[in-house]
Amino acid sequence: MHFQASEPDGTHRCPHCSAHYRVVAWLTTIARDADKEMCGCCNHIMASWIATSYPKFALIGECPGDKGGKFIKGGSA
Ligand SMILES: [Zn+2]
Ligand SMILES: [Zn+2]
Repeated sequence: MHFQASEPDGTHRCPHCSAHYRVVAWLTTIARDADKEMCGCCNHIMASWIATSYPKFALIGECPGDKGGKFIKGGSA
């Protein structure tokens, strides 16, 4: 399973707190490996993959979840 960005433009949002990330680099590892990335904001798993190439993320702007303490869950609620 390769990493799948959540947005059509290739950026990725944390599924837990909607923090917005950009993939700044793709790194490779020799062994096909299961790995994950923790959200720097909410500390949940924001992406996971089993592949020899994996993304390196940079946070774009501020995390929406930091503003009012209420996390936005995908779409309208
Ligand atoms: Zn957050
Ligand atoms: Zn998060």
